[in-house]
Amino acid sequence: MKEVKNPKKPLIYYYCIVMAIVLLFNIFITPMLTHSQVVEVSYDTFMDMIDEENVGVVQVEDTEILFTDRDGAVVYKTAPMNDPTLTERLHDSGAEFMRVIEEPISPIWSFLLTFVLPILIFAALGRYMSKKLIEQAGGGKNSMAFGMGKSNVKVYVQSTKGIKFDDVAGEDEAKESLAEVVDYLHNPQKYSEVGASMPKGILLVGPPGTGKTMLAKAVAGEANVPFFSISGSEFVEMFVGMGASKVRDLFSQAKEKAPCIVFIDEIDAIGQKRSSGGGYGGNDEREQTLNQLLTEMDGFEENTGVIILAATNRPESLDHALTRPGRFDRRVPVELPDLAGREAILRVHARKIKTAQDVDFRTVARMAAGASGAELANIINEAALRAVRSGRTVVTQADLEESIEVVIAGYQKKNAILSTDEKLVVAYHEIGHALVAAKQTNSAPVQKITIIPRTSGALGYTMQVDTGDKYLLAKDELEDKIATYTGGRAAEEVVFGRITTGASNDIEQATKLARAMITRYGMSEDFDMVAMETVQNQYLGGDAALACSPATQQEIDRKVVELVKRQHEKAKSILVENREKLDKLARFLFEKETITGEEFMNILSGGENK
Ligand code: ADP
Ligand code: ZN
Repeated sequence: MKEVKNPKKPLIYYYCIVMAIVLLFNIFITPMLTHSQVVEVSYDTFMDMIDEENVGVVQVEDTEILFTDRDGAVVYKTAPMNDPTLTERLHDSGAEFMRVIEEPISPIWSFLLTFVLPILIFAALGRYMSKKLIEQAGGGKNSMAFGMGKSNVKVYVQSTKGIKFDDVAGEDEAKESLAEVVDYLHNPQKYSEVGASMPKGILLVGPPGTGKTMLAKAVAGEANVPFFSISGSEFVEMFVGMGASKVRDLFSQAKEKAPCIVFIDEIDAIGQKRSSGGGYGGNDEREQTLNQLLTEMDGFEENTGVIILAATNRPESLDHALTRPGRFDRRVPVELPDLAGREAILRVHARKIKTAQDVDFRTVARMAAGASGAELANIINEAALRAVRSGRTVVTQADLEESIEVVIAGYQKKNAILSTDEKLVVAYHEIGHALVAAKQTNSAPVQKITIIPRTSGALGYTMQVDTGDKYLLAKDELEDKIATYTGGRAAEEVVFGRITTGASNDIEQATKLARAMITRYGMSEDFDMVAMETVQNQYLGGDAALACSPATQQEIDRKVVELVKRQHEKAKSILVENREKLDKLARFLFEKETITGEEFMNILSGGENK
């Protein structure tokens, strides 16, 4: 499928063209039109020519004297002097007094050329540019005037290369529920015979980069129907009144092309809950757009063959009117991929690149825990780029592993200089995390530790790898996790007796987790199973809203501190007990900068059998 795009050129590009035209005009055209081949000579030469009786026609003006030679072939020009006898002498030499040069260009023409023409050029270009602007903003090709344009809903031209369900790896549940839509689009009679009707709208719900757009395209690809796509944010972009007319337009186009798929990305941009008081400005505009969308959705008959798919990562912020039966009444969750899903996505994208024989996608998938489909696609691409940079023709396992870190942690900062002291502190800090993790039986083993600074600002990090995806975490596992977070700072304290700013992210993570345990997971004795916080927005990291009295709030804060403190102490005692191994591991990491989980476990168990 090919998306038709308007070429976007920066405004400065058009300005440059106009400036060039104006300059050319002034430098070349204007002088050519007014005075053609006039030779400027000195007054002396003029005098000499009079004496030689070689002056043909002469025209004396206040600012210049124009004259020709006897043959009239060349026009000369000179500056006038205070010369009272000039006229007499000229007369004597037989020169004729008359206009030497016909004004080659009438005043009206010169006015037109120098003033009106440039203005016309400017106006034409201006019109052209503003049209471009409207198109870019969504006015569309046929826009007649501001606010009355056709929308720039993009129609994807079908081709055999269309995206199919096979291209979307993992997401089996989502595919299953969308397969019904495909079947319906293939033969709608089957459904109407029974009296069943397809939902008009289906909401794809999930975090960014999980393949929602891909799934929508795949439905169109599988059903072999046209695909219209527009983003919610485009509706509310520019001119007042445009959003609603765009919606109207979108639906009239879609109805013409039915059966078809209409895909609205980021529907939360228009579909947010309407304010009760009635807003001003942009808010008002958004509500008009939303109302139009609701009207259109109610307006068309069921079974017209127009299926609207919409994507959002904030389903709870949508206006209830949108999610009501008859509108977007079906929800398809599109979640982050699990281990098997990640492996499948890696394999799908690896089809496009050349990989070495020994590449192990399972290991890569394991290391990329928490990555979205888009990130995994990016990892494959980064690995391919890395292979090219090092002059190889195939992508190796090392390329893939390195690019995980690139995508997840930012590019390696090769030239960032850490002083030796700092590097040692970072080494101890990271080993602190790893050792605490490894010593608590419930913590995931360590995969890789590195103290090569990254552009993301992390000075080093410990990559823990879950052996499988975990959906349920026990209280003690969560506590161990907190202890692991505090392990870095604990190592600094135990070894150097002095603390640094390096633990700021750890502190944040530990606090978040401890807080959630108390307020949301019901893991403290005092509050039992009472929800102290409710999560508003779980797909964007979760903004928790407090649901308790200020007094309880204080109590919660105290509990959080207590919990973290207990785990911090635990981490410290683990490190003190294993001081010898801590030193050994930290030294080793300091030397090598990057150590693998295997090397780590070797050293750890090597010292075990005393
Ligand atoms: P969303 O719409 O959910 O934000 P997209 O559909 O735009 O995500 O996905 C972005 C890119 O990520 C896709 O073009 C594709 O390359 C990759 N991707 C995401 N999920 C998957 C998946 N399940 N299988 C294969 N590729 C995926
Ligand atoms: Zn840390």
